[in-house]
Amino acid sequence: MSIEAPAAGPGADKPPVSRSGAEGRPLLEVKALYRYFGIKKRHLFGPAAKVQAVDGVSFSLAHGETLGLVGESGCGKSTTGRLVLNILTPSSGEIRFDGVDITGLAPEDWRALRLDMQMIFQDPLSALDPRMKIGDQIREPLDIHGIGDARERAGKVNEMLDAVGLPLGAVQRYPHELSGGQQQRVVIARALILRPRLIVCDEPVSALDVSIQAQVINLLKDLQARFKVAYLFISHDLSVVRHISDRIAVMYLGQLVETAARDELFDRPRHPYTKALIAAIPIPDPRVRRERVILHGDPPSAIDPPAGCRFHTRCPHAKPICGAETPVLKPAAEGHLVACHLVESGEL
Ligand code: SF4
Repeated sequence: MSIEAPAAGPGADKPPVSRSGAEGRPLLEVKALYRYFGIKKRHLFGPAAKVQAVDGVSFSLAHGETLGLVGESGCGKSTTGRLVLNILTPSSGEIRFDGVDITGLAPEDWRALRLDMQMIFQDPLSALDPRMKIGDQIREPLDIHGIGDARERAGKVNEMLDAVGLPLGAVQRYPHELSGGQQQRVVIARALILRPRLIVCDEPVSALDVSIQAQVINLLKDLQARFKVAYLFISHDLSVVRHISDRIAVMYLGQLVETAARDELFDRPRHPYTKALIAAIPIPDPRVRRERVILHGDPPSAIDPPAGCRFHTRCPHAKPICGAETPVLKPAAEGHLVACHLVESGEL
């Protein structure tokens, strides 16, 4: 299947997004999202190759909700986050924010959306300018969008420093003077100062010490309760995702294979890949034993993914149909979708 990028500027005539929101309507809807990257031919006269990074992903996110997007490195979860924020352009598909189609919006229209949609990256140090003082970096989004006068901006910076648990004196310091956890708090403060309604958190605690990870996760939860912001929380670590998510979507090789409410997913995982991810989470109690699920081999290449179910080359339950037909997400229980032939037929 070859999917080409849409023509430039298809969103130029789209209506502006309101900041008020509407009850009952999802904040974010992603429908059949694809992103293929063209790469160099392997052979001079061979066919053009494409990396199928995101392959038909659909999900929604409610106001103030956290959706955890989890999967192995290279499965396309970070690409999905970048597509949502227009850092990358989709090959095809639709992204709606508060009911408005924002797919391929022109850059000038994205300026207003940046008030509502922000991102927190994995490595706080590379996300911060080493030559700028912390206070200036937190204030910068207000400067860019022309919000408030100098006094009001300074007040908002102090308010955000307090909200993320940093001393007011941090405004005069530089990133290298702070610990990794403090740097990530600065990044969070800068993302929140515009009061966005959605933050895409891309592995926000992966670069931090384990002891600091829990603090930052708890901080994100506290800030969500206070500012009513929704998170698309991307992580390879299911145990981290568990602590913060309301719902979880599991991704494998560019496709979603299972989505469910957090407790439903952990109590009743249905997809063999989800079961393997959960089985791999260490339990800090030697008396508790969990059934082990060993996955053999690495994920196949997204350049030439397997036909049928993309997981069939590693799945311990694979049957002939798995290599021949692609399973689609179907309800296995209320609010619980699974893409697996054997779950659909009741054999799993
Ligand atoms: Fe395994 Fe087949 Fe289900 Fe894929 S469809 S997860 S290969 S049982």
